[in-house]
Amino acid sequence: MSDKKVVTRFAPSPTGFMHVGGVRTALYAYLYAKKNDGKFILRIEDTDKEREVDGAVEQIKQSLRYILQDGDKPNTFPNQEDLALDTNNPWDEFYTQSERLDTYLSWAKKLAESGLAYFDPYTKEELEVFRQKAQDDKKPFLFREHRPAVLDSLWTEEKSRQMPLRFKIQNVEKTEWVDQVRGELQAGPEALDDFIIMKTDGYPTYNFCHVIDDIEMQVTHVMRGEEFIPSTPKFIALYSALQKIYPEKEIAIPNFVTLPPILGETGTKKLSKRDGAKDVLDYHKEGFLPEALANFLAFQGWNPGGEKELYNTRELVKSFSLERIQKSGARWNPVKLDWFNKEYIKITLLSDTLRLKENFFKALPVGLRAKFDDSYLDDSGFNNLFEKYLERISYFGQLSEQPVLDELLILEKTPVTDLELIYTDLDKNETLHILESLSLILNTHAGIWSPESLKGLLSDIIKEKGTKNVLWPLRTTLSGQKKSLDPFSLMSILGKEESVKRIHLVLEMMKK
Ligand code: GLU
Repeated sequence: MSDKKVVTRFAPSPTGFMHVGGVRTALYAYLYAKKNDGKFILRIEDTDKEREVDGAVEQIKQSLRYILQDGDKPNTFPNQEDLALDTNNPWDEFYTQSERLDTYLSWAKKLAESGLAYFDPYTKEELEVFRQKAQDDKKPFLFREHRPAVLDSLWTEEKSRQMPLRFKIQNVEKTEWVDQVRGELQAGPEALDDFIIMKTDGYPTYNFCHVIDDIEMQVTHVMRGEEFIPSTPKFIALYSALQKIYPEKEIAIPNFVTLPPILGETGTKKLSKRDGAKDVLDYHKEGFLPEALANFLAFQGWNPGGEKELYNTRELVKSFSLERIQKSGARWNPVKLDWFNKEYIKITLLSDTLRLKENFFKALPVGLRAKFDDSYLDDSGFNNLFEKYLERISYFGQLSEQPVLDELLILEKTPVTDLELIYTDLDKNETLHILESLSLILNTHAGIWSPESLKGLLSDIIKEKGTKNVLWPLRTTLSGQKKSLDPFSLMSILGKEESVKRIHLVLEMMKK
């Protein structure tokens, strides 16, 4: 490899939400640039105005801010406002193609001046006739077979509004090239055709302007999906033509790095929305830690070898290599993603408990969060809640999914208690007695209020009255529900005051 500074780019079109496959491409380009002390560019390819979707650029930026975190700084779980901030961007340079139209036009004009581009005089209908004829003859449609006898290469503004400008392929021949992942590739002459470079709306085509940008931005490694392999001969032909007409410029064909597709779970077709390919920002909403998602995505198509699976961003940067990008498709495995997140929760618990707690808190149902300010949920109650639920979830979003949510809602409000539920199979009077004793024991307890100590505290009464006779009414009194957390966890979360209050309320109802 030459000693040129490595420059990679991620070049999305703002045509929809950011799919996981897109972020994986961005991640690889980012890791490779960082690994080589190079430059990572974000380039918005918005030259197809018809397909553009409002808000997509912002979504792209936010997705990258979320996933591509600087491995040398402690990762954070950004909140919505952080993601919207135009600071700490992971890209080194940012471009928008629609702001570079003059640039493309000047390159296009130079091609025309040099006889390497010409106006396409045909109407849509005429082209359709050619296309139909090719189809009837079972041959690929090639524009160059209908190239006009006399080419009009004289550029005028007026003509450019009426006729698209096409690149004139010089040498119709076999193309051979090396892809950094796929190895030696080749395509026959049918891959080469006179393609449109400037449209009549004044915008360049992707085929043309991405090459211009890659040249101007001195991109050394072009990473993208396999759908661009069939067009690569055209890009190479354009590079060669530009090299000839601009001998003074340093125009190098970049390294092509074709990334493997991400397949659905069955491994037979490309990952689709149906298989759970969702907006990357949905993972943010669900509380997936950025390093978990980055680690998981990095392994969708690459692995460093060996048994170790947990690689934080800094380690990913260190180990990333083009040689270990796989050729074949990677299978999407959401269970594995959950596993990664759970592992990063454990790691973060040791390294940054505070950050984890904050995120956990933010993910709690709103009503329960409010209890933190105005009611029983104090620090120790919150800690108990945190410990209890951290073991049970793989990502914070599960706090708002059933059945966890149902359990948590019990904690939000004083339960409306159905006395029948409390007596189920038990003697009413005996139950009343037991609850009174419990209220007394709990109310006078001045020691630690944790599930373990509460278990110890109630061990005598349990021995004396029987487990079911004590724990069933206690649990249903505290929760008002048939199914809930165990009474010790409930009490540890509710705290002493709220627990005793709930028992008193039930006792009052019973005595009426
Ligand atoms: N704008 C193209 C896309 O979104 C980018 C392809 C490339 O990386 O060259 O598919």
